[in-house]
Amino acid sequence: MNHTLIARLAAALVLAFTAESSFCADIVIHAGTLIDGTGAAARQKVSISIHDDKITAVEDGFKSPAGAQVIDLSGATVLPGFIDCHVHVTAMLPSRTNSTEYWVTHSDIDRAFDAQLFVRQMLQQGFTSARDVGGGDESVALRNAIDAGKIPGPRLMVSLEPLGPTAGHGDPRSGLDRDLHHSGWENGIVDTPEQARIRVREHRRRGADLIKVMPSGGIASTGDDPRQQLMTNEEMRVVVETAHSLGMKVAAHIYPAPAIENAVRAGVDSVEHGSFATAQTFALMKSHGTYLVPTLTVFDLYYAAARDHPELLTPGTAPKELANDLLPKKNLPLAIQSGIKIAYGTDIGEGDHTLEFALLIANGMKPIDALLAATRNAADLLGRADRVGSIQSGRFADIVAVPADPVAQPDALRHVTFVMKGGVVYRSDGRPTSLD
Ligand SMILES: [Zn+2]
Repeated sequence: MNHTLIARLAAALVLAFTAESSFCADIVIHAGTLIDGTGAAARQKVSISIHDDKITAVEDGFKSPAGAQVIDLSGATVLPGFIDCHVHVTAMLPSRTNSTEYWVTHSDIDRAFDAQLFVRQMLQQGFTSARDVGGGDESVALRNAIDAGKIPGPRLMVSLEPLGPTAGHGDPRSGLDRDLHHSGWENGIVDTPEQARIRVREHRRRGADLIKVMPSGGIASTGDDPRQQLMTNEEMRVVVETAHSLGMKVAAHIYPAPAIENAVRAGVDSVEHGSFATAQTFALMKSHGTYLVPTLTVFDLYYAAARDHPELLTPGTAPKELANDLLPKKNLPLAIQSGIKIAYGTDIGEGDHTLEFALLIANGMKPIDALLAATRNAADLLGRADRVGSIQSGRFADIVAVPADPVAQPDALRHVTFVMKGGVVYRSDGRPTSLD
């Protein structure tokens, strides 16, 4: 054979291989028990058919059509992939490193490399979608890299920097030498309604899927008070109006009851944390259909860090953590009793995102409702219920399995053994696949 012929044959082989590898064989999952995330009762012995990245059928009985690859999960309980509505993909655990030192010694690019590790872990824990509510351009890049199949991770929706006032919870300059400056630190600062409108439009241009606001002070930040409303009602109203006109939802980090009520009246789609809400606050949220994302995980982790390693937290914040972090747990039964919509969120990046299941259940939520908070409700809050959050024909094949029925054994939610996202298996029998 001459060299030209060899080159032609090689090119043909490459073409054939490419065509072969882009062809995706049909898959059928045999689910011993299926909880489909719609709120319907559990079913036994169900076949889930998958073509490319979508679910095409959910049928009773174990079917094995010719040519289809069968994945045997007949000994497991199969669930929709979990959704975490409050993550920060670049955030390290508070006990790992000094937060101020990390903040001023790492670039956005460094943070992106940390984040790719954290999102990979999230996916391995069973989270096939997540909403990043406060990051920068690195979160957008990460979302795009995941969507393009360059790195493994959940489907991300990102908000970019939270919008809030000078010296508020989202002002990165708070507590630092006033002469320190970094381009981009002003990206979330909003001090007038006019500025709010411009910021929302800028975030859209930079790739945001939703908008995060910080109308009240926070806990893990120096110098601000979590019991004060810091944005004006008019600023919140303009953020919501502009975001909604661009097809983006608004998530609001808020603690005090009057500020929550003002934000709900301004039309925010979710209240994150909501620690000091009262029965009246929840009644207003219920009448507006506003979601609560309680984020018990972050409070648990930061309470422990404030108690055991206060020197690692942002200066002056340990007393605020100790004074406020136990309130959301105490308030959860009131939230449940009020009948408001609750969606799952941890407020962490690195770490165990399944911890929220245990905390919700330990503080009064039924196991099935904790599961629905992380599937059906979370998908609704994301505005993606037509694509994720349930196992139904036409949805993405985002599917996980746990070793026991989580309604009877809730701890099973923390031991995912199988993860599929968009028809691709990322974990099987508790072990990462070669794709990971
Ligand atoms: Zn957060």
